[in-house]
Amino acid sequence: MRKKIVAGNWKMNGTQEEGQKLTSEIVNMVKDEPVNDVTIVLNPPFVHASNVKKLIGDASNIFLGGQNCSDKASGAFTGEVSAPILASFGASYVILGHSERREYFKESNELLTEKVKQALENGLTPIFCCGEPLEIREAGTHEAYVKDQLTESLFGLSEADFEKIVIAYEPIWAIGTGKTATSEQAQDMHAAIRAHIASKYGQELADKISILYGGSCKPSNAQEIFSKPDVDGGLIGGASLKSRDFVDIIKSF
Ligand code: PEP
Repeated sequence: MRKKIVAGNWKMNGTQEEGQKLTSEIVNMVKDEPVNDVTIVLNPPFVHASNVKKLIGDASNIFLGGQNCSDKASGAFTGEVSAPILASFGASYVILGHSERREYFKESNELLTEKVKQALENGLTPIFCCGEPLEIREAGTHEAYVKDQLTESLFGLSEADFEKIVIAYEPIWAIGTGKTATSEQAQDMHAAIRAHIASKYGQELADKISILYGGSCKPSNAQEIFSKPDVDGGLIGGASLKSRDFVDIIKSF
């Protein structure tokens, strides 16, 4: 049985007060309402880490994550946050290779290899994002594009390390646009990703990897997307900022 995961990516949103309110609401709703064996990850801006961790308290199914980490362990890198720092604040996950990081901060597949290594060395589970821009989807080369992202960043990992990775497939044309991939488009790509992993690491290992869908996922479409056999959860942007919507998405399993 693969882990079912719903991760919220707050991006650069939320004052201290708003972050505390959002976290408390989510923690309370998850306590009060039945949630089907889903691992929940909150990925706030770094400075919220301590508050969010405290508010999660002893909830056994909610975890703290980062939205990024440095490719270096420490040193003179002003403005950066390392994997050891994140881990020291009690984080368990870190989103790596989000398309916004790739586009605005020019993160390459090679750089992401180093970030993944840093995360793994410090006990953080990478939520590794991949996904194609619209022109690649329209050209019909999206599967090759995504497979290359995975090969270049991750296929140097040992089996023992690869097994710890979570993949998030996020078609760029669906992020924050309100345009969700159809559940068939998500399933096709997730199956292609799993087959690609199997071609390198074997079917048994590929069957253990959770592959999340991200891109305008909301309460009204989550159930349909999560019902697909190779979709193991979601990476949620906009809808993770509304406690009711986020918890309704979690309850869509
Ligand atoms: C994201 O940025 O990871 C994301 C999926 O955003 P949204 O849900 O807002 O499309």
